[in-house]
Amino acid sequence: MKRYKITVSGRVQGVGFRPTVYRYALSEKLFGFVSNTAEGVFIEIEGAEKSIKNFLRKLKLHPPQQSKITKIVVKKIPPEFEKKFSIKKSTNRNGGKTSLNISPDISICDDCLKELFDKNDRRYLYPFINCTNCGPRFTIIKDIPYDRKKTAMKEFKMCGSCQKEYETPSDRRFHAQPDACWYCGPDVKLVRSPKSKVRSKGIKAIQKTVEFLRKGKIIAVKGIGGFHICCDATNDKAVKKLRHRKNRPDKPFAVMMPNIETIKKYCYVSEKEKNILLSPERPIVLLKKRLQISELIAPNNNYLGAMLPYTPLHYLLVQKFDVLLMTSGNKQDEPICCDNDDAIKELSGICDYFLIHNRDILNRCDDSIVQVGNKKNLKVIRRSRGYVPNPITLPTFHFSLPTILATGAELKNTFCLTRGNEAYPSQYMGDLKDAKSYEFYREAIEKMKNLLKVAPKIIVHDLHPDYFSTQYAKELRTSDFGLRTIPVQHHHAHIASVCAEHKINSKVIGVAFDGTGYGTDGHIWGGEFLIVNGAGTFERKFHLKYVELPGGDRATDEIWRIGLSYLSRTSARPEQVFGSEQVFAPNKCSVVKKMIEKKVNCPLTSSVGRLFDAVASIINLRQEITYEAQASVELEQLIDGRWKMEDESYEYELVKDEIDVKKMISGMVGDLKRKTSKNKISAKFHNTLAKIILVICKKLKKETKINKVALSGGVFQNSVLLEKSVELLKNADFEVLTNSQVPSNDGGISLGQAWVAFKLLTNTK
Ligand code: ZN
Ligand code: ZN
Ligand code: FE
Repeated sequence: MKRYKITVSGRVQGVGFRPTVYRYALSEKLFGFVSNTAEGVFIEIEGAEKSIKNFLRKLKLHPPQQSKITKIVVKKIPPEFEKKFSIKKSTNRNGGKTSLNISPDISICDDCLKELFDKNDRRYLYPFINCTNCGPRFTIIKDIPYDRKKTAMKEFKMCGSCQKEYETPSDRRFHAQPDACWYCGPDVKLVRSPKSKVRSKGIKAIQKTVEFLRKGKIIAVKGIGGFHICCDATNDKAVKKLRHRKNRPDKPFAVMMPNIETIKKYCYVSEKEKNILLSPERPIVLLKKRLQISELIAPNNNYLGAMLPYTPLHYLLVQKFDVLLMTSGNKQDEPICCDNDDAIKELSGICDYFLIHNRDILNRCDDSIVQVGNKKNLKVIRRSRGYVPNPITLPTFHFSLPTILATGAELKNTFCLTRGNEAYPSQYMGDLKDAKSYEFYREAIEKMKNLLKVAPKIIVHDLHPDYFSTQYAKELRTSDFGLRTIPVQHHHAHIASVCAEHKINSKVIGVAFDGTGYGTDGHIWGGEFLIVNGAGTFERKFHLKYVELPGGDRATDEIWRIGLSYLSRTSARPEQVFGSEQVFAPNKCSVVKKMIEKKVNCPLTSSVGRLFDAVASIINLRQEITYEAQASVELEQLIDGRWKMEDESYEYELVKDEIDVKKMISGMVGDLKRKTSKNKISAKFHNTLAKIILVICKKLKKETKINKVALSGGVFQNSVLLEKSVELLKNADFEVLTNSQVPSNDGGISLGQAWVAFKLLTNTK
C-alpha cells in the first residue's frame, strides 16, 4: 500500500479534470481524493504501486480534451488506509499564490448540441445548455478556484435534476459550474428599444427574433463575451440601414453561418481553415470569397470574415438562415457592450430589438480574428475570446521573477501580465483614446491581477508620452514609488513580440513595418530595420527616409495629404497625376503644398503604413479612408494572391541609413502616364518593399553575421507583402520569424514590452 500526493498545474479547472481523475482512480481501484485548489488540482491517491503508475500514465496520456497540464508534482506520503475515492470541496492551500490557468470560453460540444435539438431531452432548445466539456469560462469567472459561487452562475440555484447531475461523478455535467436548465438557469428576453418593453421570453423570444431578422430588423443579441449586432446578411436593405446607423461606410462586417457546408458555398475553405473554424475557440476566420453574399458586407475586399455558431443561442438563431451578419455590439471606437441596460442605452439608435439574458458577463471579450496564409501559417489579427487567458510560455529561469505589467500601445490595445515564466496577454481592449475603453482597460487590469493573484512590480510602457497606456503607467508609479517603470520603443516591442513567441535569446535583425510609433528622436517611425539583442536593447540601422506628414493625425484619414507629400519630392505635378477631375479640392491642395514647403505642422515620418496611404492616393485608388489600414487592404486586394516572384519592381536609393523611395514614386507616375493597370502598379510596389527588405537584411547580415530575421508591425497583416518577403528571405537562407500567437499589429505590443522587460531583468541578475 502506497500513498502519493499529486499537484497538477496548468489549465485543469473548468475542463472536467476532477471527474476524469475520479474515473481513472476507480478503474485502477485506488483510494483517496481529488480537489480544486488555487494552484490547480490536488490529488492524494493510495493503492498498489503498479496501479498508481497506471493511473498517472493515463492522466498524462489522456487528460480531458480541453485541459493542458503544465506540471505534475508527485510526492510520497504515509498511507492512511482510506477505503473510498472522493471529490473534495475546493481549498485554497497556498495563501493566495497560484499557478492555475483559467480556461478560455469553449464553444458548445457535440453532445450538448445533440441534446439541444433532441425533442426528448429536458434541455430541448435551451439556449444555455453546457457541460464540463463546453460553455463559458473566462467570461463568467470572478475569482478562483473555479467554483459556481465565484462565477456569474452564483445567482442561479440549481434545480433537483441539475443538482443530481452536478453530483454524479459518471455524469457529463459532474461539477459543470455553469450547469443549468429551463427550470433553474438563465433565460432570454426580447426587448423593444428604446422603452425596454418586453415582447416575449424563452423560446418565444428566440422565435420572434428569427421572425424579426427575416423582416430585416436589426437586433442586438447578448452573447458570451458581449453583445453582437445582428441582421440578415442577405438582406441588402437591412445591411445598408446598419451601415448608415453605425456610421460605418466601408469596414467589413463579420458573418455567422450555420455550418461548414454553407461557409463552403460562399468561401474557399482549406482543411486547416476548416479545422480552425470548427475548433473550440471558434474565431472569425478571414476566408477568400467564392460567391458574393452582398457587396455591402465587405466592400472592395476579396475576403470575408466568417465564423460558426459557438453558443447554443447562436445555433437556435442561425439555423434558420444562410448567413447572419454578426458585428460587435458597440458604438464606433467604444468597447463592446456587455451589460443589458448599457446595451439598450448605447445601441438604441442602431438596433430595433434586444435579445438579452440574465447571466452576467464578468469579463468582456470580443470575437477573435485569424487568417491562414498561403503557407498555412496562422496569422492572428485579434486575440480575444477562445484564446484569452491562455498564457504564452517564456523561458524558465532559476530565480523567481517579479511580476511585469506591460501596458501596451493605444489603438487595438492589449495589456500583458506575467506570472513566473508565463505571459498573459489580455483580451482586445480597443482604442484607449475612447473614455469607455480606457475605463474598461483599467478595470480589466485589476480583474486580471486578481485572477492571476499577482501584484506587478515592473510597469512597462510605450515611449509615446501621450498614450493613455503611458499615462496609466506613470500614474501607477506616482501612487507607488516602489514600482519600476520601463519605457520601450514601439517597434522594438513589435520585434520583441516575435522573439517572445519563438523564445529567441540571441540577436535578430528586426524589420518593423508599421503605421505609427513614437521614435527615440521624437519622429514618427514605422519603416525600421533594427538589431534587437537578447539583453533587451536595440539599435536602429536603416529606416525609410523621413517625409513630411502634413496636418499630422489628419493625414491618416485624408490620405491625399501624404500622397501630395511624396509627390512633392518628385518632379511630377499632382494635377498631372490625378487628372482633370480633381480628386481633392485645388485650394486645399495648394494650402497643404505650402505647409509641406514651409514645413509647418508637418511632423516627420518614416512609416511604411503612410507610404501605403500615399501610393493608394497617387494611383487614385482612394483619397480618404474610413477605417484603419483601408488603403493597405485595398492595395493588397488589387493583387489578390496572383503575384509572382518575378514580378517587376521599382527603383529606390539607399543613402547612408535612409531608404529613399523618390524614384519609386516617379516610376509610378510614369506607369500611370503609360496607363499601366493599378493591379500591376500595386504588384510592383509590393515587390519593391519585399526587395528592400531582402537587400537590407543581406547588408546587415554581412555586417553583423546575424542570420535571423523577425518581421512584425501592422503592415505585415498584408499577406502579399508578408509572404513575398518571407519567400525572398528564405531563398537567401535567412531564418525568418513571424508572429503566429499574437497579432503583428499593436495587439501584440504588450507581449513584446513584457519580453523586453523580462530580458532586462534576467540579464542584469
Ligand atoms: Zn457540452
Ligand atoms: Zn435545472
Ligand atoms: Fe505598431
